[in-house]
Parts: sequence; C-alpha cells; structure tokens
Amino acid sequence: MKRSTHLKKVQAKKKPWDVLIIGGGASGLGAAVDAASRGYRTLLLEKNDFAKGTSSRSTKLVHGGVRYLQNGDISLVIEALKERGIMRKNAPHLVQDLSFVIPSYDWWNSPFYGIGLKVYDMMAGNLGLGPSTLLDREETIELIPNVKKKGLRGGVIYHDGQFDDARMAISLAQTAENHGASLLNYFGVKALLKENNMVAGVLAKDELSGEEIEISAKVVINATGVFSDEILQMDQPGSRKLIVPSQGVHIVLDQSFLNGPHAIMVPHTTDGRVLFAVPWNNYVVVGTTDTLIEAPSEEPVALEQEIEFILENAGAYMTKQPKRADVKSVFSGLRPLAAPEDNGSATKEISRHHKVTVSTSGLVSILGGKWTTYRKMSEDLINTAQSVGGLPERACITQSLPIHGYDYNSDWANPLHVYGTDIEKILTIDEKGNNSLSELVHLTKNQILWAVREEMAMTVEDVLARRTRTLFLNAEEARNLAIQVAEIMAKEMQASKAWINEQVKNFISLTKNYHIS
Ligand SMILES: Cc1cc2nc3c(=O)[nH]c(=O)nc-3n(C[C@H](O)[C@H](O)[C@H](O)COP(=O)(O)OP(=O)(O)OC[C@H]3O[C@@H](n4cnc5c(N)ncnc54)[C@H](O)[C@@H]3O)c2cc1C
Repeated sequence: MKRSTHLKKVQAKKKPWDVLIIGGGASGLGAAVDAASRGYRTLLLEKNDFAKGTSSRSTKLVHGGVRYLQNGDISLVIEALKERGIMRKNAPHLVQDLSFVIPSYDWWNSPFYGIGLKVYDMMAGNLGLGPSTLLDREETIELIPNVKKKGLRGGVIYHDGQFDDARMAISLAQTAENHGASLLNYFGVKALLKENNMVAGVLAKDELSGEEIEISAKVVINATGVFSDEILQMDQPGSRKLIVPSQGVHIVLDQSFLNGPHAIMVPHTTDGRVLFAVPWNNYVVVGTTDTLIEAPSEEPVALEQEIEFILENAGAYMTKQPKRADVKSVFSGLRPLAAPEDNGSATKEISRHHKVTVSTSGLVSILGGKWTTYRKMSEDLINTAQSVGGLPERACITQSLPIHGYDYNSDWANPLHVYGTDIEKILTIDEKGNNSLSELVHLTKNQILWAVREEMAMTVEDVLARRTRTLFLNAEEARNLAIQVAEIMAKEMQASKAWINEQVKNFISLTKNYHIS
C-alpha cells in the first residue's frame, strides 16, 4: 500500500466514489473489503492511523462470547460463533485456536460451567474449534502451572479463537486494496457535503500536509466507532447521542504468570464480569474492565482503580501474584456500544449486537458490534449502503474471501506468522541478513522497512504500536527502540533530523500512558 498512490487518485477527482467510508477500524476496513470485493469504487478515510482507535486495543479474542451466553444473548452467540469459524477459515495466518481453562474452587463450578460450555460447543456446530471437557485438579495444574493451588478442585477447558487485532486491520486494508479500494490514513473528515439536503460527499483534510479537499460519493458510511456521534452531529446538529463509550483496560505481564500456552478465564470477577489472562507473543494479556466514560478520546488512559482491579482479580487465581512492578504495558480501549433506548442500563448489560442506521439525509452508520463479527457487520452495512446509494445490486462474497497473506500452513512458532505469505518478501527486503533490533519483542529492521514501504506506516507510533505490537507488549522496550526506529524510517522516507527529533519526542510522551511502574 502506498499512501501517495491513493492520494493521487483522490486528488484526481475523476467521478464520485460509489462508497466513501469514514473510519479505518474493524468496521470501516471490513466495509471497505466488502464494498471493493463487490466491485464498487471504494474510498476509506481514517483521521489517524488504521486501527489507532478501539480496534488495536481489544482482548484479541475471536469468540462467541461465553459471557453473552450467561446473559442469555443467544442470537449474538450463534452469530459470533459462526463468524469465528469464518474468520479462522479466511485468515488462518492471523487467527488461531486457543484453549481456555476455568479453574474451579467449589464442587458445583465444574459441572455448572461444563454444561454451559457443552451448549456453547453445540451452538458452534461444524465450525467448532474443539470439545470442552472437565479437568481434575492435577490436569488443571498441568495446563496452568501458575494457577492458585489452595482449594483448587479441578476445572473446565474450552476453545475459542485468538488473533492480532491491529495486524488483522492492516491485512484488511491490504485485502481492500487488492480488490481495488483506495485507503488513506491521516485523512480526517471535517464536514459532510450535501446536495438537496442529501449527503453527497465529505470535506476532508490531509492531516500530514494540511490540504483540504472536497470528495463526492454516492453513499457515505459513518464507521467511526466511539466517534460516531461527531459525524452524526455534522449531519444533523442536536441529534440524540447513539453511542455509549465504555472503557476496557488490559495489563501485560511476562509469560511466567501463565507458564504455558493455555489461557485462564475467570467467569465471575468482583464486579460480576469475566476476566481473561491470555498468552500473546511471549507475554500475558490480562483484562478487562468496563468503565462508563463521558466523552471519547483518541488516546484513552487507564484509571488507577482499573489497574488495581485487574491485579487483584487475576492475583486471586495465581500462585505467583502480579504486582504493579510486573506490568510491562497497560492499554486502554473504548467500546462503541450502541446506546439502548433505556438510559439506565449498566454498560456490561448493553448488548454487543450491531445496528445499521440511515439518517433522513442518507448517511449510513454502523454502531456497536465486535471485532469477531466485523464481516457480518460489513455485509449488513454494504447491503444497506447499496440501496441508499442506488448502486447496482451485487451479492456479498466475503464469507469465502481469503484475507491478504492467507496461508493455510502458517507456522505459529515463527514471530512473523502474522504476515502470512508476505514473510519471504520481508526476510529478503534488506540483504544484510539477521537485522534484529530486539530479541525481547522480536523486532527486526526488515519489519520497519516493510511497514514504511508496504503498509503505509507514517510515524514511529504506527510502527511500534500497530505494524508491530512492541508498545502493547513492553512499553519500556518500545521507548528504548524509538530513536533507532525513527532513524531507519527517516532514511527510508528521506525525512530530516527535525522529523526524527519530533517523532521521538511524541512517541516517548505517548509511552507514559502505557507504562505504570
Ligand atoms: C477493552 C476492549 C476489549 C475488546 N475485546 C474484544 C475481543 O476480544 N473480541 C472482539 O471480537 N471484540 C472485542 N472488542 C470490541 C472491538 O474491539 C470493537 O467492537 C471494534 O474494534 C470497534 O471497531 P470500530 O471500527 O467500530 O471502531 P474503531 O476501531 O474505534 O475505529 C473507528 C475509527 O474512526 C476514526 N475516525 C473517527 N472520526 C473520524 C473522522 N472524522 N474522519 C476519519 N476517521 C475518523 C477513528 O480514528 C478510528 O480509527 C473489545 C473492545 C474493547 C474496548
């Protein structure tokens, strides 16, 4: 992907785009793949970097949602289990099976969760990832060596999917481009253009050059997650708020806190939610929380009480208990929950179902949803957009559309597996052989060159937070690498010393949000 190539197409202003999508997270990128693969002229504009919002800050589970089963939200679980299977099938280099152990300390826990999980298995049908089974005490300890042993009776093991959210986002952008879409990061929508009171395009700004440009389109889609109300206000000032932002925090620990390839699922935390401790890239991601937030922000920050809550609840299930000083990184994301009619609902009770809405001026919005269901959300969205925009009717083909890099024989032991079939090109992009910059987070110079040349990485943050996951894994290591990364990027982009200094300064300031010790 080359930003300059896409920019030229937008500046050429040949004819209106069929579909213009605002927002480059899971919803927008999924929509771009769907629209482009149906053959529509598609443009996506993202004001920051792709997946800078919620879509790089999830628990990284591709799941039916055991919690939604507890809440009785059966249709959501069935839909998500189906999508879990499709996502695994279409992106085997990015989605893997993961086994979760629920340790039990009461005699009734194992049979209770065992029955629930058998229902979960049945609902997955032939897209299931493996049967759930009961474990005795010794088997539970064998699978989770760091589990708290005192009072442990046994457990249940079940299967779900795991993925790398930001890498999935980049692969979706590449898939959309492969099908003819144009995509621009650092391109914010400032206003909607109207003709006869109907939305007919957008006024957008290139955040890197400052240039403003009017872009016309047959249908405009608002896929801006927690920022959806901002676009809705541009359309109809004073309209009712449709999004409730709810913050979720994760902490990242070193792998000794699990000491194995299985995750822990805690079905009932002190606030009645579920908590996961999941192995990820040689670290352990633990979360999450559910805190109602007044106004969305681009860089949400974990609250002290959220960090304490996670340490305390995870510690209750671990022999070696995590302390603040063990936290390698902390990241925070905002759930774009579709506001219920009843304002009194707690955020944990608001359904994760998505909604597609159309305003009287023809703005199509996607609200709510989950990463796991991004494909179905996009299908529903483009079905609606096609009739709103008067586009020729064409069927969705994404159920069996391989995602960029598709590699059925992915070797998950290889830290580069997320690149799929691009691995060979990355290994040979620079001929100087082993060019490791960090063994701790498996970062190489080649990945940086690849990110700049092929993945539209424009800043040090793009490289260290989303093209590679360094910042999310180990904030201190990310800070230590910032200068080297900036220098490599500057040489590649022919940027000045002043650019390097500014990038390093900005990135080091950002790492403070991810570093608590
Ligand atoms: C803590 C947490 C854990 C989660 N865990 C899971 C999980 O394990 N599995 C799962 O399936 N789901 C999970 N989710 C849900 C999932 O992450 C979200 O549903 C999904 O990422 C939302 O994607 P989105 O595209 O709607 O929003 P976003 O990713 O926020 O994308 C919206 C984009 O719009 C851009 N934008 C805003 N305004 C403008 C503008 N004016 N012009 C251009 N661009 C604009 C923003 O910069 C942003 O990048 C989790 C969510 C949270 C918060």
